Amino acid sequence: FLPRLVASMEGPEETYIMVKPDGVQRGLVGEIISRFEKKGFLLKGLKLFQCPKDLAEEHYKDLKERPFFPKLIEYITSGPVVCMAWEGAGVVASARKLIGATNPLQAEPGTIRGDLAVQTGRNVVHGSDSPENGKREIALWFKEGEICEWVPAQAPWLRE
Ligand code: UDP
Ligand code: MG
Repeated sequence: FLPRLVASMEGPEETYIMVKPDGVQRGLVGEIISRFEKKGFLLKGLKLFQCPKDLAEEHYKDLKERPFFPKLIEYITSGPVVCMAWEGAGVVASARKLIGATNPLQAEPGTIRGDLAVQTGRNVVHGSDSPENGKREIALWFKEGEICEWVPAQAPWLRE
């Protein structure tokens, strides 16, 4: 009861989703956006963006000590990414399910990585792993004025 009360007081969750440079280069931007759009989440921010090295390092700071960190930073800054902010109740965990396991060979068919990728180092998409990180990452990747508050026409057909 208490966590639900707190969650309702804080409003719906937000998650940061990003098409990584391989997804952009492979022409998968529309396909990936579509998965979240069709599901019924609310798109609040969207841009094509060349990520600077310091931003990539800040975004992935929890992985700084991992051996793959330098290659990860090189990968994320190797070309433009598509940055997205999505909102909805339960959007963080649901988006992680839609994305699939980190290793695309272990990702279920039907998930983005399961359908569209073969290697962990080229797994086409990022999704925040907690509501706290969703907020943190959206604040990191978007400037003020780049997030839209709006009510889509389909809203009454998504929730009773
Ligand atoms: N990564 C990698 N090698 C690994 C683990 C992760 O290259 O052994 C990369 C991969 O692109 C992954 C990202 O680092 O998506 C972040 O890792 P994390 O464990 O947070 O996976 P995710 O949350 O993206 O599924
Ligand atoms: Mg992660």
